[in-house]
Amino acid sequence: PAVGGEVGIEELPLRADLRGKSPYGAPQLDVAVRLNTNENPYPPPPELVADVTAAVGAAAAALNRYPDRDAVALRTDLAAYLGAATGVPLTVANLWAANGSNEILQQILQAFGGPGRTALGFEPSYSMHPIIAAGTRTEWLAAPRRADFSIDVDAAAALLRDRAPDVTFLTSPNNPTGQSLEPAELATLIEAAPGLVVVDEAYAEFSDRSSAITLLGTLGHKLLVSRTMSKAFAFAGGRLGYLAAAPAVVDALQLVRLPYHLSALTQAAARAALRHADATLGSVAALRAERERVVSALAAAGYDVVPSDANFVLFGRFADAPRAWRAFLARGVLIRDVGIAGRLRVTIGTPGENDAFLKVAADVARTEV
Ligand code: PMP
Repeated sequence: PAVGGEVGIEELPLRADLRGKSPYGAPQLDVAVRLNTNENPYPPPPELVADVTAAVGAAAAALNRYPDRDAVALRTDLAAYLGAATGVPLTVANLWAANGSNEILQQILQAFGGPGRTALGFEPSYSMHPIIAAGTRTEWLAAPRRADFSIDVDAAAALLRDRAPDVTFLTSPNNPTGQSLEPAELATLIEAAPGLVVVDEAYAEFSDRSSAITLLGTLGHKLLVSRTMSKAFAFAGGRLGYLAAAPAVVDALQLVRLPYHLSALTQAAARAALRHADATLGSVAALRAERERVVSALAAAGYDVVPSDANFVLFGRFADAPRAWRAFLARGVLIRDVGIAGRLRVTIGTPGENDAFLKVAADVARTEV
């Protein structure tokens, strides 16, 4: 037994509002086909690996010093990438970066949420939004989606006016359901919301729609757009999330960030990875094409498939989703039970992984659907 193992969590003086809660926990299992956390299945190309290695090596020579606290060079590079991708002339003052977009979202709620304040999301959506709200003691308001998981924009706008949350989360494309919102719909919701609106664009590169960043010029006083290098950039292990917003928002986040939160190694590695954006983002077109193939094959196998604008697909309907999840796992395919009755989520993998998944899916359909 571990030293101190006789002490249970219930014996600790934990905050009352955290008692009985569960941590975020996608199972990390050693299975042949892992399609459960929406990563890019393609490892970074060898030139990128060599560049990251060299950049990290150079940074290692100066590890006795703290890193650039404001990550100016990295934020400048991110501004250039986003500016080119969206046509919006962003500068370093519009960008912020942290250890994954989860840390960005946490900093947003530390600065703009907190005790006595509220945050609202349209569920089902990204499970970390309410968890980060709980950690920052921001009261969570769950708002509904339609039965098909889309957002009723008029009803949602009325709700935002009525509930007036301090922070609203709009996830587009939405995880785990896959649909995205058009800029005009986003604008309607942002205009209706009296507080700030965070558009979580973790999967933006996979989407056909233009980014909420195109609205920053007119709605920058209340719009924050979060992004990540974890998905399209094939950099989940590197932990780099970023934000595009008005410079004043970036100033506000600096009040809550820990000093030197982004290590010199992370900054160097992310900059090197960004220099290869064309190569890594080249996989996005292939993954989108594979997504369409997976959607058609699932439908042909008798599944009900939710239309997706991301690198994952929600499908069903299972008589018992947890049991169906175990049936996939028993056949060597790890997918995700996101807690939606009758549905499971699969990440789009390589063609070989998708073939393996579809073969099992056809099999599982016979007993579980
Ligand atoms: N937002 C959404 C919608 C996500 O799905 C994820 C990853 N699952 C994140 C944010 C956070 O990703 P990261 O911290 O790796 O940037």
